[in-house]
Amino acid sequence: MLKLNDIETCYGGIRALKGVSLTVAPGEIVALIGSNGAGKSTTLMSISGITPVRCGQILFDGLAIEKTPPEKIVAMGVCQAPEGRRIFPKLSVLENLEMGAFLRSDAAGIKKDLDYIYDLFPILHKRRHQPGGTLSGGEQQMLAISRALMARPKLLLLDEPSLGLSPIMTKLIFAMLARINRENATTLFLVEQNAAMALKLSHRAYVLENGVITLEGKAADLLHDENVKKAYLGI
Ligand code: ATP
Repeated sequence: MLKLNDIETCYGGIRALKGVSLTVAPGEIVALIGSNGAGKSTTLMSISGITPVRCGQILFDGLAIEKTPPEKIVAMGVCQAPEGRRIFPKLSVLENLEMGAFLRSDAAGIKKDLDYIYDLFPILHKRRHQPGGTLSGGEQQMLAISRALMARPKLLLLDEPSLGLSPIMTKLIFAMLARINRENATTLFLVEQNAAMALKLSHRAYVLENGVITLEGKAADLLHDENVKKAYLGI
């Protein structure tokens, strides 16, 4: 579904990604783990078309998208739930969700997806007329994920879904991500500093260090890899 071939992304003179290659197959959950500043967010921004790549190729469903504008990439079925949540704080929860369906015109499908989201996260139903900015951090994260889901993506990109959340809230959100993957065949690609949670959720994972992929494999194997344990799991 997604293939990155040797991509490089720069900020001025800084090479944040130095030739990253990875793949995500339909139906998979794939994690990209790594420490602060490794280039995880840059990888997602490059896929979404927000930060232009300097060289290399990004294929989505076989089509090269590295020069495609972000709104067209969304229309193709790639949606991002960004780091720090970035919901619209003054709009209600329901309006935030409707914004996610901005490119859709199938009213019945939108209603069905809204019901599905309220089933996943009942608190969003309870708070549907409240301004998004009044939600707790965890609820805002639920809203950001749900808003991205309202676009009915084939590929959902998640930037640090656990950021700033309590362990209990992280567990709940990760359980819902597993449900979203299982029940809708939505493919997930997530970047995370919480390597333990990310590896438990994912089928496969990549380790990114200083803009370079240094390790890849089945998530279950990486959980037992000595280097991963030492560097990312604190074991
Ligand atoms: P974090 O988990 O802290 O967000 P990350 O792995 O997502 O880290 P990136 O945010 O992708 O890392 O940053 C990769 C590198 O690019 C870092 O050295 C960072 O300082 C730099 N960088 C990121 N965004 C910009 C920007 N807009 N302008 C200049 N440099 C940037």
